[in-house]
Amino acid sequence: MSRIFSGIQPSGDLHIGNYLGAVANWVRMQEGRDATYFCVVDLHALTGTYEPADLRRRRHEMAVSLLAAGLDPERCTLFFQSAVPQHTELAWIFNTVTPLGELERQTQYKDKSARLESVLTGVLTYPVLQAADILLYHATRVPVGEDQVQHLELSREIARRWNARFAAELPYFGEPQPLLTPVRRLMGLDGQAKMSKSLGNTIGLLESREQIWEKLRPAMTDPARQRKTDRGTPEICNIYAMHRAFSPEPVRQEVAANCRSAAWGCIECKQVLAASMEEVLVPIRRRAAEIGARPTYVTDVLADGALRARTTAQETMRQVYERMGLTD
Ligand code: SF4
Repeated sequence: MSRIFSGIQPSGDLHIGNYLGAVANWVRMQEGRDATYFCVVDLHALTGTYEPADLRRRRHEMAVSLLAAGLDPERCTLFFQSAVPQHTELAWIFNTVTPLGELERQTQYKDKSARLESVLTGVLTYPVLQAADILLYHATRVPVGEDQVQHLELSREIARRWNARFAAELPYFGEPQPLLTPVRRLMGLDGQAKMSKSLGNTIGLLESREQIWEKLRPAMTDPARQRKTDRGTPEICNIYAMHRAFSPEPVRQEVAANCRSAAWGCIECKQVLAASMEEVLVPIRRRAAEIGARPTYVTDVLADGALRARTTAQETMRQVYERMGLTD
């Protein structure tokens, strides 16, 4: 049996790229584990520029989206990172065993710092806080995208270093392994870049059918299809990638055949996609409406999640402090 930890930035409403790339997997992972911890990592969000009121709104919207998408507080622990102070406590402890060179070698740090005139310390130590997030709960598996594999390796390195210094005979922290779940990466509606809110090329998970159609109708397709009679290549079309995510196999086969033979125009193809998306999104929208009708529900769920997370986190810190000579 495994213990899962995963975090998501409080970026407001989920879009379908986040949903298919991460959260749909989380929903499946709630079953058959010892424990699953899903965390809205609001402390990590402080390393970018933000307005406090905006962060407050985005945190709440993310929690609503996660619950609407199918996270079940009876089967997982959902909480805000900042509600469990042990994350920053353990991060400080790990700072004391993490060499600067290891942090400076991280690809994400190098990419980010190359674009900044002045680099905040939090950008450098971001993966130390990630290590604390994971190890605080003794997570054995961490669902990650390929871009996070290096940070997870650093978490293992930090666990090894801390164990070597303070728990040499019987290692206290295990080494969490990546869970490379089948991730469906969706390009944005422009077909140019990954779906991302900052690029304005997303479809929100909670958007209405009409709003989605407004966005789908002009979305980029196979550029070879200038006229309806032009034959297309579904494999290079982003709309077909969305069919792969939302449409059942027989529909996907029909789409591919009708694209190759030019039996369908792209608008017909998009109408079929919009119908497939409704099958998945209607129940999610319904749950979001139910959650919205219960004003204290989200706050209560998050408070309960934080309480459960703190219970585990406090025990971890007790063990850590004892081994480090910080208790009498
Ligand atoms: S018919 Fe569908 S799959 Fe083919 S190019 Fe148009 S939108 Fe893309």
